[in-house]
Amino acid sequence: MGRVIAVANQKGGVGKTTTAINLAASFAAAEVNTLLVDCDPQSNATSGLGFVKDPERVSSYHLLMGAATAEEALLTTELEQLWLIPSHKNLIGANIELVDAESREFRMREALAPLRDRFQFIVLDCPPALDLLTLNALVAADAVLIPMQGEYFALEGISELLDTIERIRAALNPELAIEGVVLTMFDERTNLAQQVKTELKTFFGEKLCTTTIPRNIRLAEAPSHGKAALEYDPRSKGAESYIKLAKEIIERQVASGQIQTAVMSEAVVEPEAFAELITTEDTGEQRGNQEAGVEEMPAKDDMDKTA
Ligand code: ATP
Ligand code: MG
Repeated sequence: MGRVIAVANQKGGVGKTTTAINLAASFAAAEVNTLLVDCDPQSNATSGLGFVKDPERVSSYHLLMGAATAEEALLTTELEQLWLIPSHKNLIGANIELVDAESREFRMREALAPLRDRFQFIVLDCPPALDLLTLNALVAADAVLIPMQGEYFALEGISELLDTIERIRAALNPELAIEGVVLTMFDERTNLAQQVKTELKTFFGEKLCTTTIPRNIRLAEAPSHGKAALEYDPRSKGAESYIKLAKEIIERQVASGQIQTAVMSEAVVEPEAFAELITTEDTGEQRGNQEAGVEEMPAKDDMDKTA
């Protein structure tokens, strides 16, 4: 069974999508099958991986409405072991259309269930709201990763998020864990950033990830090229920091016995192996795949071979 991680914080612009894309890409670069699910009508994770808007394409909206299976929504990406379930702005309608629907909070969980054993990691990018879409992601998840910007008001609104997590545990998903809190756009040279970090450490203890994500222009540029930072500029501080975060999350999982895979301990736990992976140059094969259109769905046989 893979691990489902929802990247959530109802505060806007804190780095959820940047974290979801680059964390998922880093898992995939470590040679484990990874699925990124765009649960936000803004569709930034979808466009950030190079997919143009297409209302006809099967997307997370169809999953929530029960109009398509997750299998039908899968898209391959430029990264061999990364798949995407895209979203479209029509997803905003699901919030309203599902108001009276039965088991409306379980739609995503049920849709992803048949895929869970095919992916080591499933990463869900949430919208900046504690709405039915985020609720669906948190019910589908094993754990929530909370990106927080290293700024004065970082903790504002966090009690609301923690209350929501508590309520979900009590009523809908008792197993929901906090994967961690990750500081984003972090400038460790400033006193303010250090103060915020100390404050968060006091508040979250071990849940605060050791890895921090610096403010890095490559992370902001990469989505406009439809690429994860590790494809766009693998040597950038931004790409490196997300690889480090992926490694930290994997190591925690291995330590707690939640996952055991030979591939992970070889490819990820060894930094040299990881460095080798991310410096591998674009192959003709990959470019071919790109030209042929990255939107083709993977045949089930292909998926099984790499599982
Ligand atoms: P929303 O709440 O709207 O979904 P979000 O929480 O998903 O936003 P992002 O879209 O990831 O946040 O980031 C907000 C903006 O900040 C984007 O323009 C992104 O490129 C930029 N950004 C995020 N992280 C970094 C970083 N570490 N360094 C530089 N720019 C960043
Ligand atoms: Mg976002």
